[in-house]
Amino acid sequence: MEKGAAKVVKLEKETHDITSLYFEGFDESFGKRRAGSFLTLKIMQDGEWSKPHPFTISCAPEDPLLKVTMKRQGAFTTAAHGLKPGEEVICAGPYGLFCKDIDAQDSIVMIAGGVGITPFLSVLRHFRNIKFANRVVLIWSNRTIEDAFAQEELKQMTREIPLLVVNNLSRVPEGTDIAGYADGAFPGVFYEEGRCTRDLIGKYLPPDDPAIYLCGPPPMQDFVLGELEDLGVDPKSVKKENFTWKAT
Ligand SMILES: Cc1cc2nc3c(=O)[nH]c(=O)nc-3n(C[C@H](O)[C@H](O)[C@H](O)COP(=O)(O)OP(=O)(O)OC[C@H]3O[C@@H](n4cnc5c(N)ncnc54)[C@H](O)[C@@H]3O)c2cc1C
Repeated sequence: MEKGAAKVVKLEKETHDITSLYFEGFDESFGKRRAGSFLTLKIMQDGEWSKPHPFTISCAPEDPLLKVTMKRQGAFTTAAHGLKPGEEVICAGPYGLFCKDIDAQDSIVMIAGGVGITPFLSVLRHFRNIKFANRVVLIWSNRTIEDAFAQEELKQMTREIPLLVVNNLSRVPEGTDIAGYADGAFPGVFYEEGRCTRDLIGKYLPPDDPAIYLCGPPPMQDFVLGELEDLGVDPKSVKKENFTWKAT
């Protein structure tokens, strides 16, 4: 058996191009994972093991299975979306320090673009498990509301921990009043149309010098860092996870 061998348990479709994959039987080393850690995944492609590709472990570190939530992009992720329960994969890790010490922060702002939500989902699932008591603001930018998966879970979390969720949608169908997305049962969930601008961020940025975490596509990260700077935040103080890597 290959080192790092694990088995696919199930796949869950999150959106038209995002699927979560669950693995079991992985190495003991994953017992050391933290919220927001990542792994590298190899799958069988054309009869041989693929190159390793990095993916955040999107479940809480307490969860018994490993879960990754993957956007379909090129050949590798397209093949991985077609994996079947019982098939073998190779998982190495855990890696990464992006959210190291996040549970020591008094006030946290998470800003995510698209599938860049995965480290924050892991952290929030962990926070729910440990009943984290400090304030967290999540601003999540997506194209449409259909792209913003895990909504029901996030809504519930706003009742379980001091979490505020801001769904920032760049595309809202013509004639739709975005305020209509809001559900009075979840006063901690907000909807904002347009880009993730300084006005939007400023509206939800707590005044208590929060620790800011950012994960999204590079152009979105650059834009948000500029907007934060205009709000008086030193871009160097922002903790960032970059989803690009150098193929080996
Ligand atoms: C720390 C970290 C965590 C990540 N977590 C997630 C996650 O939770 N969910 C998720 O969907 N994605 C995540 N990614 C990004 C993910 O690894 C890539 O999008 C994915 O591996 C690309 O697969 P593909 O099908 O395009 O690959 P291929 O078909 O192999 O890609 C084709 C070519 O494009 C290049 N390429 C593709 N994507 C990238 C990239 N991101 N950076 C550099 N070169 C690239 C490859 O080198 C290859 O030459 C993460 C990346 C990093 C570094």
